[in-house]
Amino acid sequence: MDFSEDFDFENRILSTSYSAEDSDTDTSLRPKNLDEYIGQDKAKENLKVYMDAAKFRGESLDHVLLYGPPGLGKTTLSNIVASEMGVNIRVTSGPAIEKQGDLAALLTNLSEGDVLFIDEIHRLSRSVEEILYPAMEDFALDIIIGKGPSARSIRIDLPKFTLIGATTRAGQLTTPLRDRFGVLLKLELYTPEQLATIVTRSANILGIGINENGAYEIASRSRGTPRIANRLLKRVRDFAQVSGKDIIDEEIASYALSKLEIDELGLDNTDRRMLETIIKFYDGGPVGLETLAATIGEEAVTIEDVYEPYLMQIGFLSRTPRGRCVTRLAYEHLGIPMSRKNSSAQIDIFEK
Ligand code: ADP
Repeated sequence: MDFSEDFDFENRILSTSYSAEDSDTDTSLRPKNLDEYIGQDKAKENLKVYMDAAKFRGESLDHVLLYGPPGLGKTTLSNIVASEMGVNIRVTSGPAIEKQGDLAALLTNLSEGDVLFIDEIHRLSRSVEEILYPAMEDFALDIIIGKGPSARSIRIDLPKFTLIGATTRAGQLTTPLRDRFGVLLKLELYTPEQLATIVTRSANILGIGINENGAYEIASRSRGTPRIANRLLKRVRDFAQVSGKDIIDEEIASYALSKLEIDELGLDNTDRRMLETIIKFYDGGPVGLETLAATIGEEAVTIEDVYEPYLMQIGFLSRTPRGRCVTRLAYEHLGIPMSRKNSSAQIDIFEK
């Protein structure tokens, strides 16, 4: 079975991945310091302590691993760390570093204290990862010169830099790499209240009029993700302008979002179809991740990283050892009656 044609994952407005649409305003909307960075209090508090301590000792900050779903502010936070530490940041990503030489070039161009930000660090190749170990641990680069019996290894000293790795899946990092990070910080999905603050801040920067209820309406449909909140704000602005409204209020926000087929919980057609597929073809689950991925024509990692976190946070999907299950709440939301078999199976799952 392949229902992939029904799913337009790439062009979803609720996609958490970065798209061209985000680019024009993205830099102006990015908070520039920790005070402007809303939410993630635990991560912020910890980072502040480590940064103050490093500054006090006149050392570079320990290597930091940031993990959590896309669009939650990992890149933004890394830029803030660099600016608060008063150093430069070099930005790259796991898949962009193809050869050992690419990473060596990046590392040797850093200055003392600089931040090297590697997004999607779990996608580094093993051979590249190997040269990262001594770089992180001893600030040294081991390079092999020559081939065969005459090959010899030379060691180049590197400046004391800070590596900030970002990943959507900390579990996929190899143990030697994970162990070399001194600071591990998990970013959480944002609450609607925090997102409403972010939406209001973004509206102010972009010169868009918005009231409290309008901001909350957008926030509560943004799947806990600032990137989506900012994108929805821009789309709602279009509807407000066309309707001749100067201020985004609850009414126009709600109207615009329903036109975009985003429901009051922030689910779009893709979410609804995925849940309906599990209900229709797998009797509500459990269905294995790989099977589900094949049925809807999407990669298992995308389902795990992008779709599931929010559906699980709102209690619509549960992960059991036997696979994914749609919960009673989701049935109710979709207006689909639960079969007897299913409701007793659910009681079974939750009572265990
Ligand atoms: P990630 O690297 O985790 O995918 P980004 O750092 O690119 O996410 O964040 C996406 C966008 O969301 C940023 O451009 C920024 O405007 C906004 N954003 C993220 N986190 C926050 C925050 N804590 N406060 C305000 N805006 C934020």
